[in-house]
Formats: sequence, C-alpha cells, structure tokens
Amino acid sequence: MNNFLITPIEYLKGVGPQKAELLKKEIGVFTFGDLLEYYPFRYVDRSRFQRISDLLDVEGNVQIKGRIVGIIEAGSGRGKRLTAKFQDETGMIDLVWFKGASWVKNTLKVNKEIQVYGKATQFNGSWNIAHPEMSDINKSNEVGYQPVYSSTEKLNTSGLNTKGIEKLVKGLLDQIQELFEEPFSEAICTEHRLISKDRAVRLIHNPKSELDAQQARFRLKFEELFFLQMELLVRKKITLQKSKGYIMEQVGDVFNTFYKNYIPFELTGAQKRVLKEIRKDLNTGHHMNRLLQGDVGSGKTLVALLSMLLTVGNGYQSAIIAPTEILATQHYESISELLAPMDVKVKLLTGSTKKKDRIPLHEGLINGEVNILIGTHALLEDPVKFDNLGLVVIDEQHRFGVAQRSRMWKKNDLAPHVLIMTATPIPRTLAMTFYGDLDVSVIDELPPGRKPIKTMHKYDASRLPVFGLIRDEIAKGRQVYFVYPLIKESEKLDFNNLLDGFEAISRSFPMPQYNVSIVHGKMKSEDKEFEMNRFVKGETQIMVATTVIEVGVNVPNASVMIIESAERFGLSQLHQLRGRVGRGAEKSYCILMTGDEISKDSEKRMKTMVRTNDGFEIAEVDLQLRGPGDLLGTQQSGLLDLKIANLSKDAQVVAMARDVAKQVLSKDPTIELEEHKMIRYRLQEMLKSRPNWGRIA
Ligand code: ADP
Ligand code: MG
Repeated sequence: MNNFLITPIEYLKGVGPQKAELLKKEIGVFTFGDLLEYYPFRYVDRSRFQRISDLLDVEGNVQIKGRIVGIIEAGSGRGKRLTAKFQDETGMIDLVWFKGASWVKNTLKVNKEIQVYGKATQFNGSWNIAHPEMSDINKSNEVGYQPVYSSTEKLNTSGLNTKGIEKLVKGLLDQIQELFEEPFSEAICTEHRLISKDRAVRLIHNPKSELDAQQARFRLKFEELFFLQMELLVRKKITLQKSKGYIMEQVGDVFNTFYKNYIPFELTGAQKRVLKEIRKDLNTGHHMNRLLQGDVGSGKTLVALLSMLLTVGNGYQSAIIAPTEILATQHYESISELLAPMDVKVKLLTGSTKKKDRIPLHEGLINGEVNILIGTHALLEDPVKFDNLGLVVIDEQHRFGVAQRSRMWKKNDLAPHVLIMTATPIPRTLAMTFYGDLDVSVIDELPPGRKPIKTMHKYDASRLPVFGLIRDEIAKGRQVYFVYPLIKESEKLDFNNLLDGFEAISRSFPMPQYNVSIVHGKMKSEDKEFEMNRFVKGETQIMVATTVIEVGVNVPNASVMIIESAERFGLSQLHQLRGRVGRGAEKSYCILMTGDEISKDSEKRMKTMVRTNDGFEIAEVDLQLRGPGDLLGTQQSGLLDLKIANLSKDAQVVAMARDVAKQVLSKDPTIELEEHKMIRYRLQEMLKSRPNWGRIA
C-alpha cells in the first residue's frame, strides 16, 4: 500500500504529463498519496437551497438555484468588471467578478439552470455575490453532500476544477481495494471514538451527510496532530535524556525562613502551582528548561525569587537577567529589600556598573560569596564566572534571542536550570507545539484586590475629554504615559509625530505645574535612563515615549496609558503597553486613540482591548486575526504545514492528541508493544524524512 501511494501522479488514469505538471506546480500534488491528502475545503449540500427573496435579512454564505438572465460588462483594463443577473422564482441577485472577467465571461451560460454558492452582501442597496462558485445542477436524483476542492485558474482551464479533481480522487479511491492501514490500536480508536483510517479517507472525499464529514475530519485531524505531538514529545525526551542537571533535593532553610517570615503576600493559587512545578523540575537530575507565561502583573517576579531561594538553599548560586537596566535595577531594589533581614547576598551588574566595583563583584561570584546576581544582558557579555550557577531566570523573554539564551549555558560545566518568563501569552495550543522542547507553566490568576483597567477607544476628533481625565488624575497625584508608534518603514514621520506630540502635550500641560519626560530610541542610553528615572521617582507626571517603555517597567503610581495611533499596534503589543498601568491599587485607564477611519481588523483589535483584560483571550483573537505564522514570527512554518488540522481553530483536538501521545509514551516508552507497531513504523518514516529529527535522534 505504501509503495502504491508514492506512485507519481502522472500514472493516474486521466492525468497526462501536462495535468501532472500543473498538479505539482499549482497545488503540490506529486503522488497518489498527495492527491488523497488534498482534502475538500467544504461540502455542498445539494438538497438545500435558499430563495433569493429570503436573502434579504441575512448576510453570509448562501446556495441558490436559478438561471443567468443577462450579462453586463463595465469598465476596462484593471477596472473591468463583470455582472451577471441571476434569477430564481423569487427574485434577482447580481453575480459579480472583478478579476478574470474576460475568462469568466466565456464560461457563463445564459438561461441554463445552475447552482451558485458564495457570500451574499449588500452593496448600494442591492444584493450581490462576488466571485461565486458555480456548478451545474445535477440531474440525477442523487442528493446529499458533494466535496468542494480548491482549484486555481490554471487548473480550471485544464479541466481540473473542483469537479475534475473530485473525479480524479474518486477514480483513485475505486482502484484501491485494500484497506488503508490503521495506525491506531483498537483501544485508542474506541476510547476516542475514531472511525477507522480506511473509512475516514473514503468518507472525507465522499460523505453522505454532515455527520460523515465531521467524523472523517475529526479522525484525520486527530491523526495529523497526534503524530506531530508524538514527534515533539519524542524529540523532547531525547533532549532530556541527554541533559544532566544539578539535583536540588531540599526545600532548604533559606526558602523556609523567607516563606514563613518575610514573604509580603500570600501566594495566589497559580503562583503556588507553578512553584511546585519548578520545585519538581529542580529535583529530577535533568536539566530544567521551563517557560513561565503569566499576564502582566500576575506576579512572576515573586515566583522567580522563590525559585532562586530554593537554589540558594541547596548551595547553588542563581541569576536573573532583565531586558533593561531600569528593570534590573528595579528587581535589585525590590529583591534586596525583601531579603534585607536574611543572610543572602544579592548583587547588581549592569552596563553601567563601574570598573572598580566589578572587580570585587567578580571575586564574590567566583568564590561563591554572592548568592543572587541580578543583571542585564551585560551579564552575558561580561567575563562573569560563577562558582556554581544553579539557576538562570530570564525575564521578559521576548527581548532575547535564542542565541543569547544558549550562551548562558556555557558558563558552567553543567548547564544551569533555566526559567524563562514571558508576559506575552501564547495560546496554549501553539505553546504546546512550538515550545515542544520547553515545559510550559502558566500563571492564570492575578493577585487579589486589583482594580481592572478601564479601556476606552477614542477617535482623534474627541481628544479634549481625554485631556480632562489626565488633569484629574494628575491632580490626584497620579502619573500618565503617552505612547507613540515608531515603526521602521516610516520612522522619520513617526519621529516627527512623537516630537509634535511632545510639544503639544507640553503646551497643554505647562511648567511649572506639570513636568513632562520624553524617551525614545534615538536618545543616548544615559539620557534615556535619566528621563525614565525622573518618571520612576515621580519628578515628572507625564511620560511621552515610544514603545521602549513596553517592557516590564514598574511605576505603580501611573494610572493612565494613552496609546497614540493605536490602530498601528498589534494586539499583543497593545496589551503589553496597557500592562504598564493598573499596577497599584488605584483605578487605571487605558485610552486607545485612533484615526477617525480605521480598517475592520483594527476595529476588531480595539474592541477586543476594550472588552477584555485577559492576555490569553487577547492572544486567541490575535491568532485568529493573524494566523500562527505571523504571531510567532518564526521560521518554523514547516510545522504549520498541516494538511487538515488548524492550530488556531482546533485547540481541543491539539490538546487531546497531545494527551493521547503522552499516554502512549508513558505506557510504552520505547514504542515496542505490538499494539503500537504501526505508530512505530510511522515515526520511523518521519525520522527518515525529517533530517533534523534524525540529527537529534
Ligand atoms: P509580572 O508578572 O508582570 O512580572 P510582577 O512580578 O511585577 O508582575 O508583580 C506585579 C505586582 O504584584 C508587584 O507589585 C508584586 O509585588 C505584586 N504581587 C505579586 N504577587 C502577589 C500576591 N500573591 N499577592 C499580592 N500582590 C502580589
Ligand atoms: Mg515582570
């Protein structure tokens, strides 16, 4: 069977060399197997049609039956457009084409009964369907489901429209008498209600009902995701087996003393859970590589501190790396204060640490006197040597490249445990897949007593009331951020906007009553630090900045965040920026200023921000809007090259596939049992065809 499936597509009846060439080029179908995996993207239920007179109150996809009664061409060149008047017994609707008008025109047949499918929309008071799918009415009595395959203009012209493709697939399936091999054991199929592979492959191309189609889709999605997860889990297992990590057996006095006497708050349930996960990792003898996701303000720093205290109590040093000097300094100050009554030595190392201070610091690190080092990436560049570095915490991971991550590992003979903290939540399904080699912990609960941030969307035209709010807040002793976009393509223009904004704000909020800071990327870093610090210390009430302030700065007294040209920011960035306020107990505001006319997607982003403060919910919307490739901005799109499953939409199936893959591995770690024979074969095949897999294994 497998050999049969890799037969080149040109050997299929009905496919000559020319069609074969097109199938390869246009839709990546090279073999019989590829064709079978070219799944329909939807089905039409030929038994159900809407009537044109009923369309009037619904916008959406419709299927109608009728005749074209007239064709109108208008415009010329690129502006050419084609309209067909389409009629059923109840009314008339326009079918419209903006592209390929001349070609479409030749295919239209006036007065022949056809069926039309597409999205009905209202335009200038009349209804139309742009670029509809059209097909002949099937005269036979056959009713039910018909697959629809996506085609291309070139395939279409060579007779491979959806019908043509359907015919090829059916012809091929008819040739296959044998059953398709079943990779899953009976136990798995029964437990998870999977129809057989054979039935699924046949039904997906030829279902009799919506239920058939659903079952087939579910089964095939599950299979695809199962093997993806299996691959990731096996890969992770191999990495884990190779990696030895320091064993930290005890909770230790340091941790206990702090926890009993000095911890400033009761931990939230989520903080406790994550801490347990970390504690467990530190004691396995393997190297920990854990990603900690938690919304802004969820209290990651405290978890980091407690993890470092565990490490210290076991006789190891630890380090935390922050993305900016301000943030490192803030961590240093708050951690030193918390640990003041204890015998734990904490030091700060940043780019501006003086030479003469560095020498004793280096000594303290190498002789083990310093227990906790807090720093910026200067720490990575500096020739720092630890006596025994047991744990590295990386705060706000999205500012660090992978290369920097791996450099950290070189400091020791044995790699230190690594905890990466990020406030940019990634939907769970994606995290499971993309961070397959990391363990993921989530803090999904905010500390009690936070007042939610009130978010509003305002158009530029209604700026005045916003200024009123700002005056009121400043009068109450609060502080305010104004953030301007600074995006590469139009840097110069943005920069001018920022400066204009700064001037306008300074005029509306004049000295000596008000003091305004400005911070942007073109300033020298000392100047930036200086201005930031004035704001941190409360010497200025207003901070005008670009997104340089995005990351982690903690000014609990700030209560208003105004984001200018908010339509130009992505959702995760907006959420990140909003997280700069709402850090104290005061009520806070986030105001999204946009131009008066914005795109639908921008509108949706603003609405989402106004509706929810939940970073994970926002990440889900972001995923829907942008798709996984964009969201991750990675080169890993190969992983996204899925045939039927969709990481943005099939979250539940992803989770289920991952669970089942885990169950298989825990029951049968080396995948040797007879019942897993087919899984083993398939994994071996994947191993052969994916070079990076082979390299790891
Ligand atoms: P982030 O996860 O964004 O790094 P932080 O660690 O800066 O968040 O914590 C935000 C604020 O919440 C800090 O002021 C911190 O002191 C406070 N905090 C952390 N944990 C708790 C808790 N369990 N109860 C109350 N406040 C907490
Ligand atoms: Mg933080």
